[in-house]
Amino acid sequence: MTNSSVESPSKPKDMEQIVSLCKRRGFLFQSSEIYGGLQGFWDYGPLGVELKRNVKEAWWQDMVRGHDDVNTLPGAPSPYAMEGLDCTIIMHPQVWKCSGHYDLFHDFMVDCRESKKRYRHDQLNGRWVEAKDKKIFVTAPAGDDEQAHFEKQALKFFNLRSKHADSLSWDGDSTCLTEIDGFDQVLGPDAKTLGTLTEPREFNLMFKTVVGALSGEEGTSFLRPETAQGIFVNFKNVLDSTRHRLPLGIAQIGKSFRNEITPRNFTFRSREFEQMEIEFFCHPNDSQAWYQFWRDRRMRWYQDLGISSDNLILREHDKDELSHYSIGTADIEYAFPFMAEGEFGELEGIAHRGDFDLRSHMEGKLDEKSCPLEVQLGDDGKPKWKGSGKDLNYRDDLTNEKYTPHVIEPSAGVDRSTLAFLCEAYNEDEAPDDKGKMQTRTVMRLHPRIAPIKAAVFPLVKKDGMPELAKRVYLDLKKSFHVFYDEKGAVGRRYRRQDEAGTPYCITVDGQSLDDNTVTLRDRDTLEQIRVKIEECESVIREKMNG
Ligand code: ATP
Repeated sequence: MTNSSVESPSKPKDMEQIVSLCKRRGFLFQSSEIYGGLQGFWDYGPLGVELKRNVKEAWWQDMVRGHDDVNTLPGAPSPYAMEGLDCTIIMHPQVWKCSGHYDLFHDFMVDCRESKKRYRHDQLNGRWVEAKDKKIFVTAPAGDDEQAHFEKQALKFFNLRSKHADSLSWDGDSTCLTEIDGFDQVLGPDAKTLGTLTEPREFNLMFKTVVGALSGEEGTSFLRPETAQGIFVNFKNVLDSTRHRLPLGIAQIGKSFRNEITPRNFTFRSREFEQMEIEFFCHPNDSQAWYQFWRDRRMRWYQDLGISSDNLILREHDKDELSHYSIGTADIEYAFPFMAEGEFGELEGIAHRGDFDLRSHMEGKLDEKSCPLEVQLGDDGKPKWKGSGKDLNYRDDLTNEKYTPHVIEPSAGVDRSTLAFLCEAYNEDEAPDDKGKMQTRTVMRLHPRIAPIKAAVFPLVKKDGMPELAKRVYLDLKKSFHVFYDEKGAVGRRYRRQDEAGTPYCITVDGQSLDDNTVTLRDRDTLEQIRVKIEECESVIREKMNG
């Protein structure tokens, strides 16, 4: 039997509905919710934890375990090896001095003396506006519906009603606050009076903690703001213990912490999050080719897991946007529904870091072009942050050439990718209910590989031996997949609940099943129902996951 669904005419996805589904169905909860929550911290619920694990497992399988290290992959200069690591969150404080995070990992912030709110300097936009013979610069957080915010603020300031919006005379386009000198004529996004914003101040994003019983500076350490440094400091350990030759990629998945000033947009900017990072060590002569290779390979990964190429871009950084260490960086960005039309948010950065990291951990020297010398040098004129002093160079045992490897770093966020998969999957269409009447349904079209539940098993009714057989089918499939058993309510309602959870298959045991050992298998996306033998269910699901 085929009951096809009808796509609703494509309309922009509503972030509020996605957030509400995530809470209702147990994908994501606010951390410490019963105490009012904690900004920038999120908990994954029963469905969310499965989805996130599946995202991480897909990445680990595709990038590390399942990686073909004997052949040359399309676009690659040569075969390469991949290994994994799992390093600590707290590391020797010197790591962060040599990496540059201690001195350079900060944002410039402006505070509002009136509203007591704090904003990132580079994330406030503003526009000059004149009325009643006075010209002011109204501001709003970039990316939101800026113009509406500007107008509301200006009307309030000039004490005008909205029907008099025409009397506001705008001058110039929206401009970043960083372009403005002196804030006397600036109206903060939540202020009623002019000039309440302070000059920008630096704010380090690393969370401090104390190790051991020492309470002074000696015990101060940091929660890692990225997983990458654990890989750099273990580069020699991995080489020596595996005896690999370069090129070699080392991968790590784990928690990172950043005391973000303005955590927002659901999990997109959190203070505690997970990263999936690869540091790829190669010969300097090949590094450009490897940079190209990784950009393409990582872009494809998202597409293979169901992100439409219409919603994904690879954006090359302009020269003035590059981090201090980077020779080239490209971001993979997704059109999140909370972004303004035509704007994208970063999922992953692929950076060509040259030899900056290994060199820093050897010599403790920061990059002179971006870090002022007075930060790098102590009073005695010697580099303040000593490196490890260890030789982290590589000697090729075939050619005997010794060099500092170059590094390509594909650095992805687990939470941002998971959020992108959730947003991409969210769909509303029309599908027939139990009585054949078309109804709107919400369906999460998650790729079967990452779907939290692979199949739900139902007895059609709760009698005549159907629950017993359905439970047997369920327990059997449970050995291979995360499956779900449900015997409550009308079967149509049970289908809808699974559609919202993103379950690719529903398996129903009915009267015929007891006679011929077959079940119906309903496809989430096509709504097609086919009869299959019970013993074939596992292979059908597996095929779908791999397809
Ligand atoms: P942004 O510019 O958005 O702050 P970034 O360029 O600082 O990000 P990277 O340091 O390159 O980010 O980190 C690599 C990846 O880690 C990002 O692409 C993103 O997916 C993830 N990530 C970074 N910061 C956060 C955060 N605060 N919350 C969630 N994920 C994050």
